[in-house]
Amino acid sequence: MSGQIVIVGAGQAGVQAVQSLRSEGFSGAITMIGDEAYPPYQRPPLSKAYLLGTFARERLFLKPAAFYREAGCDLILNARVDKIDRAAKTVSLQDGRTLAYDKLLLATGTRVRRLACPGAGLPGVQYLRDIADVDGLQDGFKSGIRLAIVGGGYIGLEVAAVGAKRGLDVTVFEAADRLMARAVSQPVSDFYAAEHTRSGVKLNLNTGVESFEGNNKIEAVVAGGTAHPADMVLVGIGVVPNDMLARESGLPCQDGIIVDRNAMTSDPSIFAAGDCTRHHGREGIEIRLECVQNAIDQAKHAALAMVGRAKIYSEVPWFWSDQYDLKLQIAGLARPPDRLVLRGDPASRKFAVFHLRDGVVAAVEAINAAPEYLTGRKLIADGAKVPPEKLADLSIPMKQMAQD
Ligand SMILES: Cc1cc2nc3c(=O)[nH]c(=O)nc-3n(C[C@H](O)[C@H](O)[C@H](O)COP(=O)(O)OP(=O)(O)OC[C@H]3O[C@@H](n4cnc5c(N)ncnc54)[C@H](O)[C@@H]3O)c2cc1C
Repeated sequence: MSGQIVIVGAGQAGVQAVQSLRSEGFSGAITMIGDEAYPPYQRPPLSKAYLLGTFARERLFLKPAAFYREAGCDLILNARVDKIDRAAKTVSLQDGRTLAYDKLLLATGTRVRRLACPGAGLPGVQYLRDIADVDGLQDGFKSGIRLAIVGGGYIGLEVAAVGAKRGLDVTVFEAADRLMARAVSQPVSDFYAAEHTRSGVKLNLNTGVESFEGNNKIEAVVAGGTAHPADMVLVGIGVVPNDMLARESGLPCQDGIIVDRNAMTSDPSIFAAGDCTRHHGREGIEIRLECVQNAIDQAKHAALAMVGRAKIYSEVPWFWSDQYDLKLQIAGLARPPDRLVLRGDPASRKFAVFHLRDGVVAAVEAINAAPEYLTGRKLIADGAKVPPEKLADLSIPMKQMAQD
């Protein structure tokens, strides 16, 4: 197939689409436009090893420069697309250029949700989404510095772990009554609360931040009616999808660009993949995922559909988080009131929580437990039923779980 494919967003999904289009035999022109200064890079290390200083910047980049040359991909960086003209099948760049497309892929990702409380604009109140954000944080990341983190989700807690490791005095403020409440079960929240506390991180649950105080720079976080002194603040309260372009061009959006299971929008010439989309998940419910797995798999499916070989996207979602020496791996989507089955003892720092729905394995959260994660992911994909007492029995190896 030939023609002109334009990709908006030079990130995880965008680069995967370039690779898949070529491996599927697309021989036409590919142009990818990104508004950052860098070619596509992986974000997960930003709040982990890269912030810690043990992961070199060059390793962040998903492909070497030669990849784009060899793939015949015209990579335009530092450029923002600000309009789609669906009738003319063109996109307009902020710098005045206009590019024509036969097929368009929107892979615009998300942006951080910003706090709007008093003092939120003070210098020293920072966010974490891109390389420049980490570089900004690094300057103040010094032993003894009082770092306040707003939000006890993945990003906040990964930064807390790095901060504690580097000798910062870390305090977390979380409005919910437990950590990572949107993403993990109560036993896993409790386990991570104990780990952070043991590492010296001060946790304030049920504590929403009311304002920030300071004279030309952050000096205190006001939360729960008290002013907590702080030298630096990291806000990690979630993200919002970059769906404005699609929305303004009349494509249906609802907290994300709505796509079908072939990653196609309501316009058959326009596809979307990654964090910016909302799609019908494998369980039939509408969902917006923010993870590398979805960016990669949905982009592969978008590429297949663009070359006329559409295949239904129904992969099991998976995710990971690194905090201290703990690797949390999650597969599937938990949904209360799933039945929880604990395998292993949290005190051993190696255990898993399985989620059973009508007896079927629906999700697994594994901490330093690769076999539980890997077999769990397969059981979820197969829709396997496993008796809870069998899952909990450590004397039965994971690989025997699927057998009667
Ligand atoms: C700090 C951090 C840690 C993370 N850790 C994990 C993890 O451990 N595991 C995991 O699975 N996921 C993790 N994620 C999430 C993961 O990085 C994302 O799910 C993934 O990057 C999504 O890929 P994407 O291509 O959809 O979006 P992105 O990689 O964000 O790429 C989108 C790109 O499009 C650009 N763009 C937007 N609008 C325009 C426009 N109009 N014109 C031009 N360019 C535009 C954006 O600036 C961006 O460069 C983490 C994310 C962050 C920020």
